[in-house]
Amino acid sequence: MEDPRRRIPRTDALLELPEVRQWEESLGRRRVRDLIRATQEAARRAEIAVEEVEPRLLEALWTSRGSTLRSVINATGVIIHTNLGRAPLGQAAVEAVVQAAGYVDLEMDLTTGTRSSRGAAARAALRHRCPEAEEVLIVNNGAAALMLAAAALAPATEIIISRGELIEIGAGFRLTELMASTGAVLREVGTTNRTHREDYASAIGPQTGMLMKVHPSNYRIEGFTAEVTTEELSEVAAAHQVPLVVDIGSGLLAPEPLLPAEPDAASMLQAGADVVIASGDKLLGGPQAGIVLGRSEAVRRMARHPMARAVRADKLTLAALEATLQAGQNPVQSSLHADRHSVRQRTEHLAAELDVTVVSHDGRVGGGGGAGVPLPGCALALPEAVAPALRLGEPAVLPRLAEGACLVDLRCVPVDRDAELLHALRHAMRAA
Ligand SMILES: *Cc1c(COP(=O)(O)O)cnc(C)c1O
Repeated sequence: MEDPRRRIPRTDALLELPEVRQWEESLGRRRVRDLIRATQEAARRAEIAVEEVEPRLLEALWTSRGSTLRSVINATGVIIHTNLGRAPLGQAAVEAVVQAAGYVDLEMDLTTGTRSSRGAAARAALRHRCPEAEEVLIVNNGAAALMLAAAALAPATEIIISRGELIEIGAGFRLTELMASTGAVLREVGTTNRTHREDYASAIGPQTGMLMKVHPSNYRIEGFTAEVTTEELSEVAAAHQVPLVVDIGSGLLAPEPLLPAEPDAASMLQAGADVVIASGDKLLGGPQAGIVLGRSEAVRRMARHPMARAVRADKLTLAALEATLQAGQNPVQSSLHADRHSVRQRTEHLAAELDVTVVSHDGRVGGGGGAGVPLPGCALALPEAVAPALRLGEPAVLPRLAEGACLVDLRCVPVDRDAELLHALRHAMRAA
């Protein structure tokens, strides 16, 4: 009997197929050849039948195109959802990213034809939105900004921080360990629930590099508590001529009336912080970035440190951040300020179409801040069993599972996706 492996289609025959040839331009000839070889190998090892080589190859070509990240409709009511990539960019920012994908005048003054300062426009936009900052710096993310602050402002010296602010922000990611990794020594003062001005004052000395205040964005300490205000801390810091660095986390540039407990950059700078650190992709609604605002001397010291080059922001980030700062609205702001009445109307419309009930549901700011602050709203209540089909549908929809139900909250769903959402919900309910 003939060995079926002899019938495995040859490379040149596969390369000749029009369906295969069309991929050469987007994927490159080498990638296409690699996929051909891998598919032939699978047939040689008898993992797939010889007849399957061609369809498997076409499938492999499809799935290897560009990114495999899938777009998801966020129906959780959680605005800054870390697992869904935090802040969704607004239209202006998306357009800026596409524009910046090609050659751009990132470090080039086109009028003179000479080199210019990288990211100057994004920094100017940031200063414009937060005039309290004398100088600003944009790095890769909030964690990078913290590391750079520790390395540049407290080289091999002590950083004084309250025990109530030793936070872990992501899975196993501790800010204190990050700062200590630069060689600084964390000097913890106070207790978990109460820290006083004297605690800082008695720990400060010639070995101190900086005072640090961190906003615990993902938890709250309630009850018998005391913390030292930024204003008081800045007096202690100034008396000893050490910088005060405040990590606000969320990226609010000015006070947000809906989130009164959330610190903002302008207020912290007014209260005397030398440097304020924040993320770009939380409440600011921009791309992943670390934002540094503050006094010229301290921010320039950070910008000049060799580590600054290792954590610099890329051109796509700078483009998206500048556009976000210039746009009036962005999806994070829209979701936060979503009009309750119109969200309810949209929800009731879908409920009537699907014959399901509407329940009260509190949205959340999410990992980006506003710990424990409910954002009152509503949701469709579907059977819990619908959730897997929703997640795997087209488009993918992420609902919230609570109290044995699959809740679909429209707070973070753009109005123009309601029709798609309805389609996905119908499909998933039928499948379940
Ligand atoms: C989110 C957060 C960070 C880390 O910022 P990334 O941009 O995620 O690196 C640091 N500090 C606080 C208080 C935060 O909330």
